[in-house]
Amino acid sequence: MTDTTFADLGLSKALLDAVAEQGYEHPSPIQAQAIPAVLEGRDVMAAAQTGTGKTAGFTLPLLHLLSGGSKVQGNQVRALVLTPTRELAAQVAESVNTYGKHLPLRCQVVFGGVKINPQMMALRRGTDVLVATPGRLLDLYQQNAVRFNQLEVLVLDEADRMLDMGFIHDIKKILAVLPPKRQNLLFSATFSDEIRALAKGLVNDPQEISVTPPNSTAERVEQAIYPVDKNRKAPLLCKLIDDGNWQQVLVFTRTKHGANRLAKQLIASQITAAPIHGNKSQSARTKALADFKSGAVRVLVATDIAARGLDIDQLPQVVNFDLPNVAEDYVHRIGRTGRAGASGKAVSLVCSEETKELKSIERLIRQVLPRENVPGFEPSHDLPESALDGRPSKPKKPKKPKQHQDGQRQAGGDKPTQGRHSGQGSGDRPAQSRSGGQGQQRPAGEGQPRRRRRRPQPKPQA
Ligand code: AMP
Repeated sequence: MTDTTFADLGLSKALLDAVAEQGYEHPSPIQAQAIPAVLEGRDVMAAAQTGTGKTAGFTLPLLHLLSGGSKVQGNQVRALVLTPTRELAAQVAESVNTYGKHLPLRCQVVFGGVKINPQMMALRRGTDVLVATPGRLLDLYQQNAVRFNQLEVLVLDEADRMLDMGFIHDIKKILAVLPPKRQNLLFSATFSDEIRALAKGLVNDPQEISVTPPNSTAERVEQAIYPVDKNRKAPLLCKLIDDGNWQQVLVFTRTKHGANRLAKQLIASQITAAPIHGNKSQSARTKALADFKSGAVRVLVATDIAARGLDIDQLPQVVNFDLPNVAEDYVHRIGRTGRAGASGKAVSLVCSEETKELKSIERLIRQVLPRENVPGFEPSHDLPESALDGRPSKPKKPKKPKQHQDGQRQAGGDKPTQGRHSGQGSGDRPAQSRSGGQGQQRPAGEGQPRRRRRRPQPKPQA
């Protein structure tokens, strides 16, 4: 947090009141930098992870700008926020509604996996802020449900994850139908060459903002490793939850199947738990999250993509039941705790089969994670003391993600629960042809998508 106040940043009273009602006293560093830049009408390129307060960083000035402008016409949109996942879309829309509650602006959220008709109806009167996932937005555009002649601002949120999920072609199609004169805000956890290439054709003389050095883990998060044999992980987790009296725990597994199995094991041990992943229907995911937030469920067992963007205030405890295949996901996972000023703890249950993954993580974060043996759960094979070997290590470029066992990264956590022709329309899983060029192949079996018709190319606006 900074010494600056929200009032110093030039926001209107309606927004200052909404912020005060949230209990925020000072802007976070990204807010202190992004808000004035957006208010000035500048393009922004911000390197910021979830947990830094980035959503309010773009939402507050966006609402300020829109509240002074013209009235939105039927089917038109004045500000478009694109997000990679349904959960993030829903949460951004929730923030827009929270911060904009004293303003007469309309916000809608659209994503795949649910019926398209109610979304088409809702867009008829025009929308000041539309939060959308790319696939569903294109479908709505194809069906003339949404028009962009009045578009003033475009926000790409979690752009790195959108590219990871293969949305680049959808994003390009959307950019092609937006009016060229607009303000662009690009948020991404990291700035890879791919993101910079995307930014080149997107932002104009942007203000660059970086609030966390890439690949650094949140300092407020206390981290530890519990070495344990693979088949003893579930009993160890139950013990940690019981002994620590943890009331709200987000647990990560590598696969959807693993998430289901673990939730069942916890429930069998009298610990309330719910899985959340891309094979669950939207209503099941929403319910699991609501139950977790209300305390009805103590443990939410999530896969990486499903968890991305989950906004849970002051989450005290994150557990890596499996280490992620991609070291950078570790940073994203533990970013779920210790958010915007709160402290948190992230523990990882690591078996000897995960030595390689542990080494990549320690190299990436340039830190040796403390090992803590739990009596009664000592592993039959020790983990290496340190992956860094005391040498100053160069962080290795993370490899292209391998196929997740459940095909999640390829099939997309945002895919529809039913096929394109099922009456629910398309979701936000990129089509097969789109990921083909990136060396990613879909695994056979679980997660294998249906063949989809190619979405026709939208015509650029006149
Ligand atoms: P975000 O990075 O946008 O996902 O925000 C992370 C969390 O920080 C959310 O739960 C926000 O409600 C909270 N937050 C955002 N801005 C502030 C602030 N200025 N002071 C305290 N909490 C904040």
